[in-house]
Amino acid sequence: MNRRPVIAGNWKMNVTAGEAESLLNQLKAELAAVGDVEIIVCPSFTTLAVACQRLAGTGINVGAQNMHWEAEGAYTGEVSGPMLSDLGCGYVILGHSERRAYFGESDGDVNKKLFVALKHKLTPIVCVGETLTEKEAGRTEAVCEQQIRGSLANLTPGDLEQIIIAYEPVWAIGTGRTATPGDAQAVIGFIRNLLRTDFGSAADKVRILYGGSVKPDNIAGLMAEADIDGGLVGGASLDPAGFAQIVKYKD
Ligand code: PEP
Repeated sequence: MNRRPVIAGNWKMNVTAGEAESLLNQLKAELAAVGDVEIIVCPSFTTLAVACQRLAGTGINVGAQNMHWEAEGAYTGEVSGPMLSDLGCGYVILGHSERRAYFGESDGDVNKKLFVALKHKLTPIVCVGETLTEKEAGRTEAVCEQQIRGSLANLTPGDLEQIIIAYEPVWAIGTGRTATPGDAQAVIGFIRNLLRTDFGSAADKVRILYGGSVKPDNIAGLMAEADIDGGLVGGASLDPAGFAQIVKYKD
């Protein structure tokens, strides 16, 4: 199955709107000619507008790192799906492990957000992955299964084809410790099989990314695996030259 590769950068709580100008210019210069990879950058909320303006028409897409599960209302401090679409965002990360760990985000929350995102033409990037304790207890598959089934509850096969999934083992995020390509493939292959059971052939169309200390020197090995369709890149996405190298992993 021919699935278009995706490389997404998660800037996390870094880069002010002012600081973004030079980073965005460098990304535009480095990535102007890339056509065979779907490129997404996910700045913080306050930097989204400038990113959408500067990257319009470049082929580099913009995503948010989170959103609320209601389209509007009395939710002080929150940002909604329609607000993101209105800016020109096309993607939103949902259920990142940092949101699950520090803000108590549950699979049920992710599930509610997923439907609002799809309704407002945002492609959700749904994150799942086990902690070190869960890995050491041999619970990786059970944890991923629970997160996938909880986050994707009531989705149709047609909806599944519209979303992106990211397998991000928590122990590999920001630690410099990457899963080996073989280990990442084993879990991502497990997730795709699970999706096949629940959604049939749509499972062969959904893109599943690996995330966790992806760097220019390990991306090619990961991308060589049959079920790995791209990378969700945190720390390394803040360096435009390094991020461009990751996007151009085939070169
Ligand atoms: C992430 O935050 O999604 C991530 C994978 O971070 P890092 O690449 O820094 O491990």
